[in-house]
Amino acid sequence: MPVLSDIKIDLNAREVVLALHQGRKAPPELIDQTQEIIEQYKSLLHPLAIYKWVRVLGVNGEKVLLDTGRDGNKLRINIGAHFDLMSKAELALVSVVTIGGELDECVRDLNKSDHILEAYLLDSVGVVALAQIEEVIRSLAEKEAESRGWGVGYALAPGSLRGWPLEGQADLCGLLPLEQINVRLSDSNILIPFKSASGIIGIGPNYQSKKVESICQFCTRADTCWQRRK
Ligand code: SF4
Repeated sequence: MPVLSDIKIDLNAREVVLALHQGRKAPPELIDQTQEIIEQYKSLLHPLAIYKWVRVLGVNGEKVLLDTGRDGNKLRINIGAHFDLMSKAELALVSVVTIGGELDECVRDLNKSDHILEAYLLDSVGVVALAQIEEVIRSLAEKEAESRGWGVGYALAPGSLRGWPLEGQADLCGLLPLEQINVRLSDSNILIPFKSASGIIGIGPNYQSKKVESICQFCTRADTCWQRRK
């Protein structure tokens, strides 16, 4: 199963701070401090991604039926009320991405030693790094769709898409050998390391878009997310 390990993370302190301030003016001193943090801690980033293409056999009610590719086994995943976002999909890219656990450990240590701002900025850098790995996965979906003359759907994730609870991660993760990227799913369906994410992107001839869009308007975190796109 494909594992991506040669993933380039290109962190820009100004972009991190602007995102934190939701596009408003970024204080120069905060940009400088974020730049120092990037320089000091960038070696803690260990970006990895694993993915698999699966055939989408249909959508029924709130459930999407996938062909797992294992001896004809099928998997029915319940993605909730916005199931229509997958109704045009013929293929789906299922993925898990991670930056590894070292950065989170460092954030914990910084918090314990009362370096609260440093911890906050480092944590934010980790979030931006994770988003960049997710972009790599989106780009894979876009390229595959383009090569077939198809379009792409939205990037959907359990715990983010309204109506698709975090427990849904178990379905997606069951399709991927997570140990190959040093990730595991806890009993409460949390990905460990924490800065990891699972998702699914549908592609098919009836999608119009060439770019994978975020589902911010359908996202459970839309009110608080500083990465919200629209
Ligand atoms: S609101 Fe934030 S978490 Fe939700 S889809 Fe948009 S960027 Fe992702």
